[in-house]
This record gives sequence, structure tokens and C-alpha cells, in this order.
Amino acid sequence: MVCSPKDHGGLGLPDLRTLGYALRLRWEWKRRTDPSVAWAPLPLDETVDHLLIVCVCIVQVEAACALCNQHDETDDHLLIVCVFSRDVWSRLLMRVGLLRLNPLGDSALQDWWISSRKQIPHRFRRAFDSVVIFVSWNVWKKRNDRTFNGRGRTTVQVCGAIFDEIRDCVTAGFNGLTVFAPDGAFG
Ligand SMILES: [Zn+2]
Repeated sequence: MVCSPKDHGGLGLPDLRTLGYALRLRWEWKRRTDPSVAWAPLPLDETVDHLLIVCVCIVQVEAACALCNQHDETDDHLLIVCVFSRDVWSRLLMRVGLLRLNPLGDSALQDWWISSRKQIPHRFRRAFDSVVIFVSWNVWKKRNDRTFNGRGRTTVQVCGAIFDEIRDCVTAGFNGLTVFAPDGAFG
């Protein structure tokens, strides 16, 4: 909880144990990938191999969702079940009048995608596919920003970025996406 992001109730403090492993392994990584570094000829420290094993275990055991830090980070969880991505989806679908398609907490992305597009007029289904990709791409970027830079955008900001991309596509001639612009035609 202490290391959870502040906007999820934590204190936002770095996990010093994991950071310590990462720092020590960075030197070992450079030693193995760049033989010119000064410390490359030194004998391998057995503790480094031990550290490698520990870090692999950490990645496997502690692969909690970077957005909520509450559940395993599977693709279904990250893109459609996580409280963050569900909030993005609900805001976006509400703005275009399709809130009835809002994914449930136990949805699987592929099943939800297939069943949802069947509820949309045939001529808008390709555009809906694009929207699913836009949302997934932006949630993924948000996840990476949180993981690697410690930064985070709000769901409102992520939705804004998605609508910007939709507007750019409409401007570029993909008129089918017009109905998925804010205040779209499904209301
Ligand atoms: Zn999550």
C-alpha cells in the first residue's frame, strides 16, 4: 500500500528493494552487453546470478497491475477489467451515447469486443474496431508511463487523448469515426 500510486490510495513511495535490484543489475547488464566497460573482465560475482534469479521471481510473482496495483496484470484485466480502463471506457461510451456497451467487471476483451460490435450498425463496425484499438493503445501507453516514468494521466486526460486521435482520423478522411467523436450520433 505504501508503494501504491497516490491516486490509488498509496503514498507513491518507490519500492526500494526492487529499485536496489534494478540498480545492481543495470551494471551487470552493461558488463554483459558492452565488453569495453572497465569492470567487464572482473570475475562474475555469484550474488549477481542470485540477483538475476530473484528479479525473475519478482517479475513473475509481483506482476500486479501497474494501474490499480490490485490484480494480476493480464491483458484482459489491463485493457478492460481494471478499474482505470473501465472508467476510461465508461466516460468514452457515455460521450458517444453507447453506455449500454460498458464492459462488466468480469469481461474478456475478445468476447466483449465481438458481442459489442454486433450491437452496432454494420456500417460503423470498422470504426468501432478502431476505437477499441485507440483505447487499448492509450491505456497501454498510460501503463508504461506509470511503470517506467512514475507518471500518470487521469482517466479524463486519457479520454481526451483518445478523442484527439479520433478527431485527427476524421480530419484525415476516416469519416466513419465521426460518430465516435464526443457527443456522437448514438445518443
Ligand atoms: Zn488494474
